[in-house]
Amino acid sequence: MPELPEVEVTRRRIAPLLVGRRVRRVRASAPSYLFLTPPGRVRRSLAGREIQSLVRHGKYLVAGLEGGSRLVVHLGMTGQLFSSEATSVRLLSATARSSLTPDEQRTFRPDVHTHLQLAFEDGGPEVFYRDVRKFGKLLVLAEGEGHPRLEKLGVDALEIDGGLLFRAGRGRSAAIKTLLLDQSVVAGVGNIYADESLFLARVRPSRRAGRVTRRQCDAIAAAVRQVMLRSIETGGSSISDFVGPDGHDGAYQDERHVYARAGEPCLRCDATVRRTVIGQRGTHFCPRCQV
Ligand SMILES: [Zn+2]
Repeated sequence: MPELPEVEVTRRRIAPLLVGRRVRRVRASAPSYLFLTPPGRVRRSLAGREIQSLVRHGKYLVAGLEGGSRLVVHLGMTGQLFSSEATSVRLLSATARSSLTPDEQRTFRPDVHTHLQLAFEDGGPEVFYRDVRKFGKLLVLAEGEGHPRLEKLGVDALEIDGGLLFRAGRGRSAAIKTLLLDQSVVAGVGNIYADESLFLARVRPSRRAGRVTRRQCDAIAAAVRQVMLRSIETGGSSISDFVGPDGHDGAYQDERHVYARAGEPCLRCDATVRRTVIGQRGTHFCPRCQV
């Protein structure tokens, strides 16, 4: 599932392909739960407009359109936003129904999972939104229109600080990991990064939020920022379906300390990494050096 670093990597790489370009033609797939705004209205809102900005709120990408309306994109579980010129084995294998081998087939061809296709007046590369499982979201907001999904988001994970986390945790019996995953407290921390951050901060994921000290909150906040920035630097994680907009895989998964390492030795103390379930999410930790 794309988390904040993957969404930020997507934003940085796709922004040059969107911002400052005027949309000429929009193709959208049939109405489905992916479209919170009906596809016909999405098409009309985009066609002929220039895209003027692309910002990120938590895991949401928000494109500012000429005239003040906004296109909001959430990648969900398997959403991919990329250039028509992207080359990736994983994207190309998606169109394996083509008789060409991946070597012969240089670029991705829109398939049944490609739900939005933007062509531009300059005739350059198109931009595709593809989503196999359709847990992503696409919607258009009119000028000045808000949306509860955006307004309830807490502070961005790249800007989290220990004081905020400490205050949010007071009186809470929920696990500290559950607090980190609560998007109304911190926007953008997902499962992998919560486990990795708690490992770096040496805090047990199951510890009650209300019993985590201010000093530990400072360590967790620093670790969250550190793992997020490092993951952005390495192009995100490619554990599931994420490919960058240019088709490149992320490399952060090679730097994991605990996530999906159950049964393997802790890289810090050699104890065996354990897996448990917290808030229905698979959780990985070292039973010796996380307290
Ligand atoms: Zn350890």
